[in-house]
Amino acid sequence: MSDLTREFKEAARSFGADLVGVASLDRFADVPPEHNPASISPDAKAVVVLGRRITRGTVKAVEEGTNWQTYELFGYHWLDTEFLALTTFESVEWLEDRGFEACPLFAFPPEIPVQGIAVREGQPAPNVFPDIEQTAVAAGLGEIGWCGVLLTPQFGPLQRLQMILTDAPLEADPLFEGELCTKCGVCAAVCPLQAMDAEKEQTVRVAGREYTVASVNYDRCRRCQNGARPNRYHGAGRPDRLAALCVRSCLAMLDDAGRLESKFEQPFRQREYWAIDALGQASIPSDWQTFRGTGCADPSGFRAADEGREQ
Ligand code: SF4
Ligand code: SF4
Repeated sequence: MSDLTREFKEAARSFGADLVGVASLDRFADVPPEHNPASISPDAKAVVVLGRRITRGTVKAVEEGTNWQTYELFGYHWLDTEFLALTTFESVEWLEDRGFEACPLFAFPPEIPVQGIAVREGQPAPNVFPDIEQTAVAAGLGEIGWCGVLLTPQFGPLQRLQMILTDAPLEADPLFEGELCTKCGVCAAVCPLQAMDAEKEQTVRVAGREYTVASVNYDRCRRCQNGARPNRYHGAGRPDRLAALCVRSCLAMLDDAGRLESKFEQPFRQREYWAIDALGQASIPSDWQTFRGTGCADPSGFRAADEGREQ
């Protein structure tokens, strides 16, 4: 690794980044111009992806069904627009202090329709929004899981990401070679709205890699009351599913399988999961034992059943 790349990564980490990956622009050769970071800054030499973890306790409060607001602020709004934005901006300043242009890019959803006209022939109309999760894969940070979200070896599905386009000659990271998703199908099986269709798989292509994902009916996810949040930037954007039952179940599976580098004293899922169906009715799924846990967060007293569980 070059000195500049090493020093930049150390600086980004000192600014709070938990994840730092670098992609070269040639990894986006197959990405259409309207989503290609190279369209934004044709002189750029590298795309940096910075990530900060969503703390697991934040999501645990959703898992227990006791507090949504903590995730809303510490896991979604503040984490993205305050904590990570500051990390990104300070990293940009670090690069520009050394004479390299650096353009911070927020993770706006690529589904947002064009918002202007092309100012030159052959150039895409603004705004060009790259897909942040696919860019993270191109930067070697992880893989796209079958549930359709980015999984990293450090935090599984729990991170927020932003990008920097720079003309600094940063060295690209190798693509992630591991395998995190077990294709267990639990993410689809637990969904009370049947929003994931295992029979209709799709292929996501990133930097020469192919990832098989289940098709997701995002209109159902937009109505989901199991921890999903609407996309806060645009109604066309994919809803935030990172604290939803599907992705929390994925986290529980990865946790149980010991596939994540982050280790905790307690398993993520300790009680049967809760689910709210399309009619807004809460239910204890009859198959919950298949998907881990003993005892329950249900107020009617299922926690008493927890007595025999080892702590
Ligand atoms: S729940 Fe299983 S199939 Fe779904 S993304 Fe996670 S590991 Fe992959
Ligand atoms: S966000 Fe809700 S509706 Fe969508 S797949 Fe996950 S659990 Fe199902």
